[in-house]
Amino acid sequence: MYPQIYSMLKKYLFILLCCFTQTVFSQTKTLPSTLPVKPKLIIGIVVDQMRYDFIYRYWDKYGNDGFKRLLSQGYSCENTHYNYVPTYTGPGHSAIFTGSVPAIDGIVANDWYDRSLGRNVYCVEDDTAHTVGATDKSGKMSPNRLLVTTITDELKLSDNMKSKTIGISLKDRAAILPAGHAANAAYWYDDKTGNFVTSSFYMTTLPQWVNDFNNQKLADQYLSKPWTTLLPIDQYTESTADDMPFEDTYKTEAKPIFPHDLPTLASSNTGLIRVTPFGDSFTADFAKATIQAEQLGKGQFTDFLTINFASTDYVGHQFGPNSIEEEDTYLRLDKDIANFLSFLDTYLGKDNVLIFLTADHGVAEVPAYAEMNRIPAGVFSTADAMKELKEALQKNFGTDNLISEFENQEIYFNDSLIDDKKINERQLINVVTETLMKMNGVANVIRTEGVIDDLLPDFEQHILRNSFNAQRSGDLYVEFLPGWFEDRAKGTTHGTFYNYDLHVPLLWYGWKIKNGNSTIPTETTDIAATIASLLHIMEPNGCIGKPIEGLTR
Ligand SMILES: [Zn+2]
Repeated sequence: MYPQIYSMLKKYLFILLCCFTQTVFSQTKTLPSTLPVKPKLIIGIVVDQMRYDFIYRYWDKYGNDGFKRLLSQGYSCENTHYNYVPTYTGPGHSAIFTGSVPAIDGIVANDWYDRSLGRNVYCVEDDTAHTVGATDKSGKMSPNRLLVTTITDELKLSDNMKSKTIGISLKDRAAILPAGHAANAAYWYDDKTGNFVTSSFYMTTLPQWVNDFNNQKLADQYLSKPWTTLLPIDQYTESTADDMPFEDTYKTEAKPIFPHDLPTLASSNTGLIRVTPFGDSFTADFAKATIQAEQLGKGQFTDFLTINFASTDYVGHQFGPNSIEEEDTYLRLDKDIANFLSFLDTYLGKDNVLIFLTADHGVAEVPAYAEMNRIPAGVFSTADAMKELKEALQKNFGTDNLISEFENQEIYFNDSLIDDKKINERQLINVVTETLMKMNGVANVIRTEGVIDDLLPDFEQHILRNSFNAQRSGDLYVEFLPGWFEDRAKGTTHGTFYNYDLHVPLLWYGWKIKNGNSTIPTETTDIAATIASLLHIMEPNGCIGKPIEGLTR
Protein backbone atom coordinates (compact mmCIF):
# COMPACT_ATOMS: atom_id res chain seq x y z
CA MET A 1 0.00 0.00 0.00
CA TYR A 2 2.61 2.53 1.16
CA PRO A 3 5.03 1.98 -1.73
CA GLN A 4 2.07 2.50 -4.14
CA ILE A 5 1.18 5.85 -2.48
CA TYR A 6 4.83 6.79 -2.42
CA SER A 7 5.23 6.15 -6.16
CA MET A 8 1.99 8.08 -6.92
CA LEU A 9 3.21 11.01 -4.83
CA LYS A 10 6.54 10.87 -6.64
CA LYS A 11 4.71 10.98 -9.99
CA TYR A 12 2.57 14.01 -8.97
CA LEU A 13 5.59 15.78 -7.51
CA PHE A 14 7.44 15.24 -10.77
CA ILE A 15 4.50 16.62 -12.82
CA LEU A 16 4.20 19.60 -10.45
CA LEU A 17 7.91 20.28 -10.73
CA CYS A 18 7.72 20.08 -14.53
CA CYS A 19 4.79 22.52 -14.61
CA PHE A 20 6.59 24.88 -12.26
CA THR A 21 9.85 24.87 -14.22
CA GLN A 22 7.94 25.30 -17.45
CA THR A 23 6.00 28.26 -16.07
CA VAL A 24 9.11 29.91 -14.68
CA PHE A 25 11.06 29.15 -17.84
CA SER A 26 8.37 30.41 -20.19
CA GLN A 27 7.91 33.50 -18.04
CA THR A 28 11.57 34.33 -18.14
CA LYS A 29 11.41 33.80 -21.88
CA THR A 30 8.47 36.17 -22.56
CA LEU A 31 8.81 38.78 -19.84
CA PRO A 32 10.74 41.84 -20.92
CA SER A 33 14.16 42.16 -19.35
CA THR A 34 14.92 45.66 -18.15
CA LEU A 35 13.05 47.41 -20.93
CA PRO A 36 9.89 49.26 -20.00
CA VAL A 37 6.68 47.44 -21.00
CA LYS A 38 5.62 50.48 -22.98
CA PRO A 39 7.73 53.37 -24.21
CA LYS A 40 7.32 56.60 -22.24
CA LEU A 41 7.06 58.62 -25.43
CA ILE A 42 6.38 57.81 -29.07
CA ILE A 43 7.55 60.28 -31.70
CA GLY A 44 6.33 59.96 -35.28
CA ILE A 45 8.52 62.02 -37.61
CA VAL A 46 7.24 62.63 -41.13
CA VAL A 47 9.71 64.25 -43.51
CA ASP A 48 7.57 65.87 -46.19
CA GLN A 49 8.36 64.68 -49.74
CA MET A 50 11.33 62.53 -48.60
CA ARG A 51 11.87 59.89 -51.22
CA TYR A 52 13.51 56.62 -50.10
CA ASP A 53 16.73 57.27 -52.02
CA PHE A 54 17.47 60.56 -50.24
CA ILE A 55 18.84 58.52 -47.33
CA TYR A 56 21.51 57.03 -49.55
CA ARG A 57 22.03 59.75 -52.16
CA TYR A 58 23.50 62.17 -49.60
CA TRP A 59 25.00 59.43 -47.36
CA ASP A 60 28.60 60.60 -47.66
CA LYS A 61 27.66 64.10 -46.61
CA TYR A 62 25.51 63.20 -43.59
CA GLY A 63 27.03 63.30 -40.10
CA ASN A 64 27.07 60.22 -37.84
CA ASP A 65 24.37 61.35 -35.41
CA GLY A 66 21.31 62.06 -37.58
CA PHE A 67 19.94 59.76 -40.29
CA LYS A 68 23.01 57.54 -39.91
CA ARG A 69 22.34 57.08 -36.19
CA LEU A 70 18.73 56.08 -36.88
CA LEU A 71 20.03 53.48 -39.33
CA SER A 72 23.05 52.24 -37.38
CA GLN A 73 21.11 51.84 -34.12
CA GLY A 74 17.60 51.28 -35.49
CA TYR A 75 15.69 49.22 -38.01
CA SER A 76 15.07 50.17 -41.62
CA CYS A 77 12.14 48.85 -43.68
CA GLU A 78 13.79 49.49 -47.02
CA ASN A 79 10.87 48.51 -49.21
CA THR A 80 8.02 50.71 -47.94
CA HIS A 81 5.45 52.08 -50.37
CA TYR A 82 2.17 53.94 -50.42
CA ASN A 83 -0.81 52.00 -51.72
CA TYR A 84 -3.25 54.59 -53.11
CA VAL A 85 -3.51 57.83 -55.09
CA PRO A 86 -3.26 60.78 -54.91
CA THR A 87 0.07 60.81 -53.07
CA TYR A 88 -0.31 64.16 -51.32
CA THR A 89 0.33 65.46 -47.78
CA GLY A 90 -3.24 65.13 -46.42
CA PRO A 91 -3.79 61.53 -47.54
CA GLY A 92 -0.16 60.65 -46.62
CA HIS A 93 -0.42 61.79 -43.01
CA SER A 94 -3.81 60.12 -42.71
CA ALA A 95 -2.44 56.81 -44.00
CA ILE A 96 0.55 56.82 -41.64
CA PHE A 97 -1.46 57.55 -38.51
CA THR A 98 -4.72 55.71 -39.33
CA GLY A 99 -3.26 52.72 -41.19
CA SER A 100 -6.09 53.39 -43.61
CA VAL A 101 -6.58 54.55 -47.19
CA PRO A 102 -8.67 57.29 -48.86
CA ALA A 103 -11.44 54.80 -49.78
CA ILE A 104 -12.07 54.35 -46.04
CA ASP A 105 -10.54 57.30 -44.17
CA GLY A 106 -12.13 59.89 -46.48
CA ILE A 107 -9.04 62.06 -46.97
CA VAL A 108 -9.09 61.66 -50.76
CA ALA A 109 -6.76 64.62 -51.46
CA ASN A 110 -5.67 67.91 -49.88
CA ASP A 111 -8.69 69.59 -51.53
CA TRP A 112 -11.57 67.93 -53.30
CA TYR A 113 -14.94 68.78 -54.80
CA ASP A 114 -17.78 68.31 -52.33
CA ARG A 115 -20.87 67.34 -54.34
CA SER A 116 -23.32 68.22 -51.58
CA LEU A 117 -21.81 71.69 -51.03
CA GLY A 118 -21.16 72.25 -54.74
CA ARG A 119 -17.69 73.64 -54.01
CA ASN A 120 -14.14 72.64 -53.24
CA VAL A 121 -13.28 71.79 -49.66
CA TYR A 122 -9.92 71.63 -47.89
CA CYS A 123 -9.17 68.42 -45.97
CA VAL A 124 -9.02 70.10 -42.52
CA GLU A 125 -11.14 73.24 -43.01
CA ASP A 126 -13.79 73.82 -40.35
CA ASP A 127 -16.00 76.91 -40.48
CA THR A 128 -17.28 76.27 -36.99
CA ALA A 129 -13.79 76.64 -35.48
CA HIS A 130 -11.79 79.82 -35.00
CA THR A 131 -8.09 80.64 -34.81
CA VAL A 132 -6.37 80.58 -31.42
CA GLY A 133 -3.13 82.59 -31.35
CA ALA A 134 -3.80 84.88 -34.33
CA THR A 135 -6.70 86.86 -35.77
CA ASP A 136 -6.80 85.53 -39.34
CA LYS A 137 -8.43 82.38 -40.69
CA SER A 138 -5.37 80.13 -40.40
CA GLY A 139 -6.85 78.32 -37.41
CA LYS A 140 -10.36 77.61 -38.73
CA MET A 141 -9.40 73.94 -38.87
CA SER A 142 -10.15 70.56 -37.33
CA PRO A 143 -9.95 66.86 -38.19
CA ASN A 144 -13.72 66.74 -38.84
CA ARG A 145 -13.36 65.33 -42.37
CA LEU A 146 -11.20 62.40 -41.19
CA LEU A 147 -13.67 59.51 -40.95
CA VAL A 148 -11.59 57.06 -38.89
CA THR A 149 -9.54 56.98 -35.70
CA THR A 150 -5.77 57.51 -35.59
CA ILE A 151 -3.22 55.49 -33.64
CA THR A 152 -2.95 58.55 -31.38
CA ASP A 153 -6.73 58.31 -30.73
CA GLU A 154 -6.40 54.59 -29.99
CA LEU A 155 -3.57 55.24 -27.54
CA LYS A 156 -5.82 57.61 -25.62
CA LEU A 157 -8.77 55.20 -25.82
CA SER A 158 -6.52 52.47 -24.39
CA ASP A 159 -5.81 54.29 -21.13
CA ASN A 160 -8.93 56.31 -20.42
CA MET A 161 -7.56 59.42 -22.15
CA LYS A 162 -4.52 59.62 -19.86
CA SER A 163 -1.90 59.78 -22.66
CA LYS A 164 -1.02 63.18 -24.07
CA THR A 165 -1.10 63.38 -27.87
CA ILE A 166 0.11 66.44 -29.77
CA GLY A 167 0.77 67.13 -33.45
CA ILE A 168 3.07 69.86 -34.79
CA SER A 169 3.99 71.08 -38.26
CA LEU A 170 4.29 74.24 -40.30
CA LYS A 171 1.29 72.84 -42.25
CA ASP A 172 -2.09 72.68 -40.54
CA ARG A 173 -3.10 69.37 -42.16
CA ALA A 174 0.22 67.73 -41.22
CA ALA A 175 -0.33 68.65 -37.55
CA ILE A 176 -4.07 67.99 -37.33
CA LEU A 177 -4.51 64.64 -39.13
CA PRO A 178 -1.71 62.79 -37.23
CA ALA A 179 -2.86 64.11 -33.84
CA GLY A 180 -6.36 62.71 -34.45
CA HIS A 181 -9.78 63.55 -33.05
CA ALA A 182 -9.09 63.15 -29.33
CA ALA A 183 -5.79 65.06 -29.42
CA ASN A 184 -4.71 67.37 -26.62
CA ALA A 185 -3.41 69.80 -29.22
CA ALA A 186 -2.20 70.41 -32.74
CA TYR A 187 -0.07 73.44 -33.60
CA TRP A 188 0.89 74.88 -36.97
CA TYR A 189 2.50 77.99 -38.40
CA ASP A 190 0.66 81.22 -39.13
CA ASP A 191 2.40 83.15 -41.94
CA LYS A 192 1.08 86.57 -40.95
CA THR A 193 2.17 86.60 -37.31
CA GLY A 194 5.06 84.12 -37.45
CA ASN A 195 3.34 82.32 -34.57
CA PHE A 196 2.50 78.70 -33.94
CA VAL A 197 -1.29 78.72 -33.65
CA THR A 198 -4.10 76.25 -33.08
CA SER A 199 -7.88 76.04 -33.41
CA SER A 200 -10.76 76.41 -30.98
CA PHE A 201 -11.37 72.72 -31.71
CA TYR A 202 -8.58 72.02 -29.20
CA MET A 203 -8.55 74.93 -26.75
CA THR A 204 -9.72 78.49 -26.13
CA THR A 205 -6.33 80.12 -25.50
CA LEU A 206 -2.75 79.15 -26.26
CA PRO A 207 -0.79 77.73 -23.30
CA GLN A 208 1.61 80.29 -21.82
CA TRP A 209 4.60 78.27 -23.01
CA VAL A 210 3.43 78.59 -26.65
CA ASN A 211 3.07 82.37 -26.20
CA ASP A 212 6.56 82.44 -24.70
CA PHE A 213 7.91 80.45 -27.65
CA ASN A 214 6.15 82.75 -30.13
CA ASN A 215 7.46 85.85 -28.36
CA GLN A 216 11.04 84.77 -29.12
CA LYS A 217 10.28 85.54 -32.81
CA LEU A 218 12.62 82.75 -33.92
CA ALA A 219 11.31 82.79 -37.50
CA ASP A 220 12.52 86.39 -37.89
CA GLN A 221 15.93 85.41 -36.51
CA TYR A 222 16.24 82.54 -38.97
CA LEU A 223 15.39 84.91 -41.84
CA SER A 224 17.79 87.63 -40.74
CA LYS A 225 20.74 86.11 -42.66
CA PRO A 226 21.14 84.99 -46.29
CA TRP A 227 20.83 81.26 -47.00
CA THR A 228 24.30 80.06 -47.93
CA THR A 229 25.33 76.43 -48.38
CA LEU A 230 26.41 74.48 -45.31
CA LEU A 231 29.45 73.07 -47.15
CA PRO A 232 31.50 74.85 -49.82
CA ILE A 233 29.20 74.84 -52.85
CA ASP A 234 31.58 72.85 -55.09
CA GLN A 235 31.20 69.86 -52.75
CA TYR A 236 27.53 69.36 -53.75
CA THR A 237 28.50 66.78 -56.35
CA GLU A 238 25.26 64.80 -55.88
CA SER A 239 23.28 67.69 -57.39
CA THR A 240 23.14 69.61 -60.66
CA ALA A 241 24.73 73.04 -61.16
CA ASP A 242 23.18 75.80 -59.04
CA ASP A 243 21.59 77.77 -61.87
CA MET A 244 19.22 75.53 -63.83
CA PRO A 245 16.44 76.91 -66.04
CA PHE A 246 13.81 74.55 -64.60
CA GLU A 247 14.27 75.64 -60.98
CA ASP A 248 11.72 78.13 -59.72
CA THR A 249 12.81 81.37 -58.03
CA TYR A 250 11.49 83.18 -54.97
CA LYS A 251 9.29 86.15 -55.79
CA THR A 252 11.52 89.15 -56.78
CA GLU A 253 14.64 86.92 -56.98
CA ALA A 254 16.39 87.16 -60.37
CA LYS A 255 17.96 83.69 -60.42
CA PRO A 256 17.53 80.48 -58.37
CA ILE A 257 21.07 80.63 -57.00
CA PHE A 258 23.00 80.89 -53.72
CA PRO A 259 23.23 82.95 -51.63
CA HIS A 260 19.49 83.43 -51.31
CA ASP A 261 19.05 86.85 -49.76
CA LEU A 262 16.40 85.96 -47.18
CA PRO A 263 16.28 89.36 -45.37
CA THR A 264 15.39 91.07 -48.67
CA LEU A 265 13.10 88.29 -49.90
CA ALA A 266 11.13 88.16 -46.63
CA SER A 267 9.14 91.30 -47.43
CA SER A 268 7.86 90.01 -50.77
CA ASN A 269 7.50 86.29 -49.92
CA THR A 270 4.80 85.53 -47.35
CA GLY A 271 5.69 82.52 -45.22
CA LEU A 272 9.24 82.52 -46.60
CA ILE A 273 10.62 80.39 -43.75
CA ARG A 274 8.60 77.45 -45.09
CA VAL A 275 10.64 77.45 -48.31
CA THR A 276 14.03 77.38 -46.56
CA PRO A 277 15.71 74.61 -44.53
CA PHE A 278 15.29 76.84 -41.48
CA GLY A 279 11.59 76.00 -41.39
CA ASP A 280 12.66 72.51 -40.30
CA SER A 281 15.08 73.87 -37.66
CA PHE A 282 12.28 76.11 -36.39
CA THR A 283 9.92 73.09 -36.22
CA ALA A 284 12.57 71.13 -34.28
CA ASP A 285 12.89 74.06 -31.85
CA PHE A 286 9.14 73.97 -31.31
CA ALA A 287 9.17 70.17 -30.89
CA LYS A 288 11.75 70.43 -28.09
CA ALA A 289 9.77 73.24 -26.44
CA THR A 290 6.60 71.12 -26.64
CA ILE A 291 8.24 68.07 -25.07
CA GLN A 292 9.73 70.09 -22.22
CA ALA A 293 6.73 72.29 -21.49
CA GLU A 294 4.21 69.45 -21.64
CA GLN A 295 6.63 67.09 -19.87
CA LEU A 296 5.94 64.47 -22.52
CA GLY A 297 7.11 61.02 -21.49
CA LYS A 298 7.47 62.00 -17.83
CA GLY A 299 4.06 60.80 -16.68
CA GLN A 300 2.68 57.34 -15.90
CA PHE A 301 1.22 56.85 -19.40
CA THR A 302 2.73 56.73 -22.88
CA ASP A 303 2.60 60.09 -24.68
CA PHE A 304 2.68 60.60 -28.46
CA LEU A 305 4.16 63.55 -30.37
CA THR A 306 3.88 63.81 -34.14
CA ILE A 307 6.30 66.06 -36.02
CA ASN A 308 6.16 66.96 -39.69
CA PHE A 309 9.22 68.57 -41.28
CA ALA A 310 7.52 70.44 -44.11
CA SER A 311 10.33 72.57 -45.56
CA THR A 312 11.76 69.59 -47.45
CA ASP A 313 8.49 69.65 -49.45
CA TYR A 314 8.38 73.40 -50.11
CA VAL A 315 12.05 73.48 -51.15
CA GLY A 316 11.59 70.30 -53.19
CA HIS A 317 8.63 71.76 -55.11
CA GLN A 318 10.48 74.97 -55.93
CA PHE A 319 13.93 73.66 -56.83
CA GLY A 320 13.44 69.93 -57.54
CA PRO A 321 15.13 66.81 -56.15
CA ASN A 322 18.38 67.38 -58.03
CA SER A 323 19.06 70.90 -56.82
CA ILE A 324 21.77 72.07 -54.44
CA GLU A 325 18.96 73.73 -52.44
CA GLU A 326 17.35 70.31 -51.88
CA GLU A 327 20.65 68.69 -50.89
CA ASP A 328 21.47 71.52 -48.49
CA THR A 329 18.00 71.23 -46.95
CA TYR A 330 18.60 67.52 -46.23
CA LEU A 331 22.11 68.11 -44.85
CA ARG A 332 20.69 70.70 -42.48
CA LEU A 333 17.75 68.47 -41.52
CA ASP A 334 20.30 65.73 -40.73
CA LYS A 335 21.89 68.11 -38.23
CA ASP A 336 18.48 69.06 -36.79
CA ILE A 337 17.66 65.37 -36.30
CA ALA A 338 21.07 64.76 -34.68
CA ASN A 339 20.42 67.60 -32.21
CA PHE A 340 16.93 66.33 -31.52
CA LEU A 341 18.15 62.76 -30.80
CA SER A 342 20.85 64.11 -28.49
CA PHE A 343 18.21 66.21 -26.69
CA LEU A 344 16.09 63.06 -26.20
CA ASP A 345 19.13 61.14 -24.84
CA THR A 346 19.40 63.62 -22.02
CA TYR A 347 15.69 64.20 -21.53
CA LEU A 348 14.41 60.59 -21.44
CA GLY A 349 17.07 58.15 -22.63
CA LYS A 350 16.92 56.16 -25.85
CA ASP A 351 15.21 53.08 -24.37
CA ASN A 352 12.21 55.11 -23.20
CA VAL A 353 11.42 56.65 -26.59
CA LEU A 354 10.04 54.90 -29.66
CA ILE A 355 10.73 56.88 -32.82
CA PHE A 356 9.70 56.19 -36.36
CA LEU A 357 10.63 58.31 -39.36
CA THR A 358 8.91 58.16 -42.72
CA ALA A 359 7.54 60.48 -45.43
CA ASP A 360 4.05 61.41 -46.57
CA HIS A 361 4.90 60.83 -50.27
CA GLY A 362 7.86 60.93 -52.62
CA VAL A 363 8.46 63.20 -55.59
CA ALA A 364 8.92 63.14 -59.37
CA GLU A 365 11.98 64.28 -61.25
CA VAL A 366 11.62 67.75 -62.74
CA PRO A 367 10.23 66.86 -66.22
CA ALA A 368 12.62 69.21 -68.03
CA TYR A 369 15.59 67.60 -66.24
CA ALA A 370 14.32 64.10 -67.04
CA GLU A 371 13.82 65.02 -70.70
CA MET A 372 17.27 66.60 -70.82
CA ASN A 373 18.54 63.10 -69.99
CA ARG A 374 16.23 61.36 -72.52
CA ILE A 375 13.89 60.02 -69.77
CA PRO A 376 10.20 60.30 -70.77
CA ALA A 377 8.33 62.93 -68.74
CA GLY A 378 6.08 65.93 -69.19
CA VAL A 379 3.59 68.40 -67.76
CA PHE A 380 -0.13 67.96 -68.37
CA SER A 381 -2.21 71.13 -68.46
CA THR A 382 -5.59 70.72 -66.78
CA ALA A 383 -6.71 74.09 -68.20
CA ASP A 384 -5.91 72.98 -71.79
CA ALA A 385 -7.63 69.65 -71.16
CA MET A 386 -10.74 71.41 -69.84
CA LYS A 387 -10.83 73.60 -72.96
CA GLU A 388 -10.79 70.54 -75.23
CA LEU A 389 -13.32 68.73 -73.05
CA LYS A 390 -15.73 71.68 -73.13
CA GLU A 391 -15.54 71.82 -76.93
CA ALA A 392 -16.21 68.08 -77.22
CA LEU A 393 -19.10 68.23 -74.74
CA GLN A 394 -20.68 71.21 -76.50
CA LYS A 395 -20.43 69.41 -79.85
CA ASN A 396 -21.87 66.12 -78.57
CA PHE A 397 -24.40 67.19 -75.93
CA GLY A 398 -25.19 70.85 -76.66
CA THR A 399 -23.75 72.02 -73.33
CA ASP A 400 -20.17 72.45 -72.12
CA ASN A 401 -21.02 72.44 -68.43
CA LEU A 402 -21.15 68.71 -67.73
CA ILE A 403 -17.94 68.64 -65.65
CA SER A 404 -18.09 70.30 -62.23
CA GLU A 405 -14.41 69.89 -61.38
CA PHE A 406 -11.17 68.43 -62.74
CA GLU A 407 -8.52 68.18 -60.02
CA ASN A 408 -6.27 65.56 -58.39
CA GLN A 409 -6.38 63.79 -61.80
CA GLU A 410 -10.09 63.20 -61.16
CA ILE A 411 -13.16 64.39 -63.05
CA TYR A 412 -16.37 65.17 -61.17
CA PHE A 413 -19.48 65.18 -63.36
CA ASN A 414 -22.25 67.74 -62.98
CA ASP A 415 -24.85 65.21 -61.80
CA SER A 416 -27.88 67.54 -61.70
CA LEU A 417 -27.29 68.80 -65.25
CA ILE A 418 -26.83 65.21 -66.46
CA ASP A 419 -30.22 64.38 -64.90
CA ASP A 420 -31.93 67.55 -66.22
CA LYS A 421 -30.70 67.00 -69.75
CA LYS A 422 -31.24 63.24 -69.51
CA ILE A 423 -27.74 62.65 -70.78
CA ASN A 424 -26.63 59.07 -71.32
CA GLU A 425 -23.73 58.67 -68.87
CA ARG A 426 -22.07 55.91 -70.84
CA GLN A 427 -21.98 58.17 -73.89
CA LEU A 428 -20.63 61.02 -71.77
CA ILE A 429 -17.83 58.84 -70.39
CA ASN A 430 -16.96 57.73 -73.94
CA VAL A 431 -16.68 61.31 -75.20
CA VAL A 432 -14.58 62.42 -72.21
CA THR A 433 -12.33 59.37 -72.46
CA GLU A 434 -11.79 59.74 -76.21
CA THR A 435 -10.94 63.44 -75.81
CA LEU A 436 -8.47 62.86 -72.99
CA MET A 437 -6.79 59.83 -74.54
CA LYS A 438 -5.74 62.02 -77.48
CA MET A 439 -3.84 64.34 -75.15
CA ASN A 440 -0.12 64.02 -74.43
CA GLY A 441 0.71 62.37 -71.12
CA VAL A 442 -2.58 60.51 -70.64
CA ALA A 443 -2.14 56.76 -70.19
CA ASN A 444 -5.70 55.75 -69.34
CA VAL A 445 -9.07 57.03 -68.13
CA ILE A 446 -10.60 54.82 -65.47
CA ARG A 447 -14.09 54.80 -63.94
CA THR A 448 -13.87 55.02 -60.17
CA GLU A 449 -17.32 53.58 -59.54
CA GLY A 450 -18.04 49.86 -59.43
CA VAL A 451 -15.65 47.21 -60.63
CA ILE A 452 -12.20 48.41 -61.52
CA ASP A 453 -11.15 47.07 -64.90
CA ASP A 454 -9.92 43.48 -64.57
CA LEU A 455 -7.47 44.11 -67.39
CA LEU A 456 -5.40 46.51 -65.25
CA PRO A 457 -2.24 45.04 -63.69
CA ASP A 458 -2.73 43.61 -60.15
CA PHE A 459 -0.52 46.33 -58.67
CA GLU A 460 -2.68 49.07 -60.19
CA GLN A 461 -5.94 47.42 -59.14
CA HIS A 462 -4.64 47.18 -55.55
CA ILE A 463 -3.77 50.90 -55.57
CA LEU A 464 -6.99 52.08 -57.24
CA ARG A 465 -9.26 49.99 -55.00
CA ASN A 466 -7.72 51.71 -51.97
CA SER A 467 -8.09 55.15 -53.51
CA PHE A 468 -11.68 55.85 -54.37
CA ASN A 469 -14.18 56.93 -51.79
CA ALA A 470 -17.77 56.60 -53.02
CA GLN A 471 -18.84 59.95 -51.54
CA ARG A 472 -15.78 62.09 -52.12
CA SER A 473 -13.82 60.90 -55.14
CA GLY A 474 -14.36 61.96 -58.74
CA ASP A 475 -16.18 59.90 -61.37
CA LEU A 476 -13.15 59.31 -63.59
CA TYR A 477 -9.45 58.93 -62.80
CA VAL A 478 -7.08 60.28 -65.44
CA GLU A 479 -3.96 58.16 -65.29
CA PHE A 480 -0.80 59.88 -66.54
CA LEU A 481 2.17 58.28 -68.21
CA PRO A 482 5.21 57.78 -65.94
CA GLY A 483 7.12 61.02 -65.38
CA TRP A 484 4.08 63.22 -66.05
CA PHE A 485 2.25 65.48 -63.63
CA GLU A 486 -0.22 68.38 -63.64
CA ASP A 487 0.19 72.10 -64.03
CA ARG A 488 3.65 73.12 -62.83
CA ALA A 489 5.86 75.01 -65.24
CA LYS A 490 8.97 74.94 -63.02
CA GLY A 491 10.12 72.77 -60.14
CA THR A 492 8.33 69.50 -59.48
CA THR A 493 5.48 67.77 -57.68
CA HIS A 494 3.96 64.40 -56.67
CA GLY A 495 0.60 62.63 -56.72
CA THR A 496 0.79 59.57 -59.01
CA PHE A 497 1.17 55.83 -58.31
CA TYR A 498 4.61 55.56 -59.84
CA ASN A 499 7.42 54.44 -57.54
CA TYR A 500 9.06 57.86 -57.24
CA ASP A 501 5.85 59.06 -55.51
CA LEU A 502 5.25 55.85 -53.52
CA HIS A 503 8.61 54.67 -52.18
CA VAL A 504 9.52 56.32 -48.86
CA PRO A 505 11.92 55.61 -46.00
CA LEU A 506 10.67 53.87 -42.87
CA LEU A 507 13.07 53.88 -39.94
CA TRP A 508 12.37 52.63 -36.40
CA TYR A 509 14.55 53.52 -33.42
CA GLY A 510 14.71 53.40 -29.61
CA TRP A 511 12.54 51.36 -27.22
CA LYS A 512 12.86 47.61 -27.95
CA ILE A 513 13.82 48.27 -31.57
CA LYS A 514 16.65 46.04 -32.73
CA ASN A 515 19.30 47.00 -35.20
CA GLY A 516 18.79 45.72 -38.70
CA ASN A 517 16.91 46.12 -41.91
CA SER A 518 14.49 44.31 -44.13
CA THR A 519 13.53 44.37 -47.78
CA ILE A 520 10.24 42.57 -47.16
CA PRO A 521 7.52 44.64 -48.89
CA THR A 522 5.84 46.96 -46.39
CA GLU A 523 3.07 49.52 -46.92
CA THR A 524 2.76 52.78 -45.03
CA THR A 525 -0.59 51.52 -43.72
CA ASP A 526 1.46 48.96 -41.72
CA ILE A 527 2.94 51.66 -39.47
CA ALA A 528 -0.14 52.23 -37.29
CA ALA A 529 -0.80 48.47 -37.14
CA THR A 530 2.77 47.92 -35.95
CA ILE A 531 2.55 50.51 -33.17
CA ALA A 532 -0.78 49.03 -32.02
CA SER A 533 0.77 45.58 -31.93
CA LEU A 534 3.91 46.73 -30.05
CA LEU A 535 1.75 48.50 -27.45
CA HIS A 536 -0.92 45.77 -27.26
CA ILE A 537 -3.65 48.29 -28.00
CA MET A 538 -6.35 48.34 -30.70
CA GLU A 539 -5.36 49.31 -34.19
CA PRO A 540 -7.25 52.36 -35.56
CA ASN A 541 -10.79 51.46 -36.65
CA GLY A 542 -10.17 51.80 -40.41
CA CYS A 543 -6.68 50.26 -40.36
CA ILE A 544 -5.98 47.84 -43.21
CA GLY A 545 -2.24 47.41 -42.50
CA LYS A 546 -0.45 44.50 -40.82
CA PRO A 547 2.13 44.61 -38.03
CA ILE A 548 5.70 44.48 -39.37
CA GLU A 549 7.43 41.38 -38.01
CA GLY A 550 10.94 41.24 -36.61
CA LEU A 551 11.40 44.84 -35.46
CA THR A 552 12.09 44.24 -31.79
CA ARG A 553 14.92 42.87 -29.71
ZN1 LIG B 1 4.14 68.64 -51.80
